[in-house]
Amino acid sequence: MIKFALAGNPNCGKTTLFNSLTGSTAHVGNWPGVTVDKREGIYKKCEEPVSVIDLPGIYSLSPYTPEEVIARKYILDEKPDCVINIVDATNLERNLYLTTQIMEIDVPMVIALNMIDALEKAGDKIDAKELEKRLNIPVVKISALKEQGLDELMKRAYEASKIERKGETVLGESALKHLIGDVRIALSGQNVENPLFHAVKLVEGDELEVSAHKETLPMIDEFKKTFKDDVFGTDFEALIADGRYKYISGKFSPVLKRKSEAKFVESRSDKADKVITHRVWGIPIFLLVLFAIFHLTFSENFLYLGSIFNLPTLEDAGLINAEGEAINYGVRWLACIYDGAVYSPGVIFNNIWNDMIVGELFGFIQGGVENSGMSEWATGLINNGIIDGVSSVLSFLPWILTLFLFFSILEDSGYMARIAFILDKMFRKFGLSGRAFMPMIMGFGCSVPAIINTRTLADEKERTATIRVIPFFSCGAKLPILTAIAGGIVAYFGVGNADIITYGMYLLGILTAVLSVLIMRGTTLKGETPPFIMELPAYHAPQFKNLMLHLWDKTKHFVKKAFTIIIASTIVIWVLTHFSFNWKYLADEQINQSIMAGISQLFQPIFTPLGFGSQLGEYGWVFVVGAIAGLIAKENVIATFATLGACLVAVAGLDITGLDINSEDGIDAVRAMIQVTGIGVPGLIAYIAFNMTTIPCFAAVATAKAELGSKSRYKLTLLFWLLTSYIVSSLVYTVGSWPWCAVLWAAALAGVIAFIVVRNKNVKIKE
Ligand code: GDP
Ligand code: MG
Repeated sequence: MIKFALAGNPNCGKTTLFNSLTGSTAHVGNWPGVTVDKREGIYKKCEEPVSVIDLPGIYSLSPYTPEEVIARKYILDEKPDCVINIVDATNLERNLYLTTQIMEIDVPMVIALNMIDALEKAGDKIDAKELEKRLNIPVVKISALKEQGLDELMKRAYEASKIERKGETVLGESALKHLIGDVRIALSGQNVENPLFHAVKLVEGDELEVSAHKETLPMIDEFKKTFKDDVFGTDFEALIADGRYKYISGKFSPVLKRKSEAKFVESRSDKADKVITHRVWGIPIFLLVLFAIFHLTFSENFLYLGSIFNLPTLEDAGLINAEGEAINYGVRWLACIYDGAVYSPGVIFNNIWNDMIVGELFGFIQGGVENSGMSEWATGLINNGIIDGVSSVLSFLPWILTLFLFFSILEDSGYMARIAFILDKMFRKFGLSGRAFMPMIMGFGCSVPAIINTRTLADEKERTATIRVIPFFSCGAKLPILTAIAGGIVAYFGVGNADIITYGMYLLGILTAVLSVLIMRGTTLKGETPPFIMELPAYHAPQFKNLMLHLWDKTKHFVKKAFTIIIASTIVIWVLTHFSFNWKYLADEQINQSIMAGISQLFQPIFTPLGFGSQLGEYGWVFVVGAIAGLIAKENVIATFATLGACLVAVAGLDITGLDINSEDGIDAVRAMIQVTGIGVPGLIAYIAFNMTTIPCFAAVATAKAELGSKSRYKLTLLFWLLTSYIVSSLVYTVGSWPWCAVLWAAALAGVIAFIVVRNKNVKIKE
């Protein structure tokens, strides 16, 4: 099959074009570095099917970062039949810099002038015909987003792919061109492919190139001796870059007609940036935005209407009867939205999904199973094991989707890229560049792609440190743990607001990440922090299609996991908690004689300093099982709670009015667990902290192993996760239970930091 490669600067719309051409749903992000690996899809509307490859975004073909290496190797070695060079028309000059380099390779190419819609909206005009004439390469105006001009683009690309093309250089300066020409002829003589491209790179002194063609060095040095530039001396890299820009600005600025000459007028986007990327206010604004998101997602008192206007609860209004049930169907709907105060959108979505849809559906199935006359253990396995487990996980879908809808809006609008920019200065102080922020933020979604995305980090040690802290950015699968326990705390102890607890836990994860990086970069992973250059993408209204794609991806992933890994794990856990060591079936209230109880009680003392060990008594092991099951997939923690919570209700013979344990709700399971084990708020928070910072799920561990490369680094990473989670959660537990412990912890932390500082100073003096 013929192959077309998409190459262009970061954020020029490659992935959008790729998705439009191939009908796939790859992640489109309004920031550089989202596509790290190359991706393939098929375009079917040409005379023959075409394989389209989305390469990572690059600014040049000099390989400073792994992405640049991937893209350059692909074009040179895999020899695509045509390179489609995507050029962001709103940023013509910068984008053409890469174009002038691709042109030097002997490969057919076309230019896709993207974002024409945005350009025209701003009132600017671009003369594609003139550009085509000057470059001697087909140019097609497109809008990847609005899907305009795509067929034309592919037609021209297809035509181009049938004709051989020799590389051309734009470096006009005569002496330099002469030098490059000589090297090119010498390389051609040795039958090197793409002689022009290699000649330019060799003259530039490109590292990859020089090590690949060592034998040509003496010759090139000989040639270079005769050459000296007045401005750049013998800095050939700068000289060549200058040559390219001179060519671009000299010849191509006229192609673009700006609407108004008064370019200095501040655009709306510049005004917004003055506030958003403000030196002092940038970060507080970011924290506020984050809080608003958590409030919109998790708060049960969204508008504070109840407290302000003294509105009646449903019970006061006589809409709920003595059994705590709604008096009619309409009231059930109302109860999803309002009870004395209007719930936040996230909570409303969640209530509707759980009370009106999933709850009804699974309740119906469970009723059927109960009345089917199956044996007691089969009923238990299906109803408590499988259905409660899976449905408790599914019950969190609305919250996950709401939270990610907001995150996607921040990302797609261009806001997140600005946060990376303002955080760069702060990140630098503890040894990371702003570039590391992107994989970290991706970690809020899922650690797996986030860990892969660290390939954008050029420095090996910075990369290792980043991979290690990514799991602390609490992922979507950990969200159920947070919300169920926060909900349990609010419901049982009647303290705090679920949104504040959840927000606080996210911040705790971030803080842990920051401190760990600080310590690692000061000790085992010392090194330079590479500079961070990033172009701020234009603000734009988030695209509905993009948002829906993100959410659809998340839903698919989540539901698929619920029906595979989670079902399998809950079955195993149910069996191990309902059979004794001599394989006798145990009723729910006998779980303490089960295999699972026997094994996990052995581990219970280990967790005592963390607040969920021996002090919880004979049923405390249920928390241990949750944490261990979480190593397979974090959703398992709550699925396990649902299965075991139902048993605990039976154990305690709890009065379950108002505690509807058979509703598919992880929060009720947590309430039962609190009641039976007597765990307090500090222990529960420590439990969340442990799950957030310990070894992540199986998939994330495997990815980290692959990306870290070395075995010893991988083992140390596992140890690091174990240690961190142990330290952080015992800190939370002890300080929460006995606040004076804060002094001890602060002293210990100060000691560690002082030790690092002093040690580093000594090393410097020795040097
Ligand atoms: P990549 O980094 O090159 O893969 O770029 P993406 O495909 O992720 O797109 C970057 C941003 O540009 C996204 O926010 C897109 O929605 C936006 N974008 C892409 N193509 C167009 C277009 O033709 N017009 C406009 N206005 N925006 C676009
Ligand atoms: Mg991309």
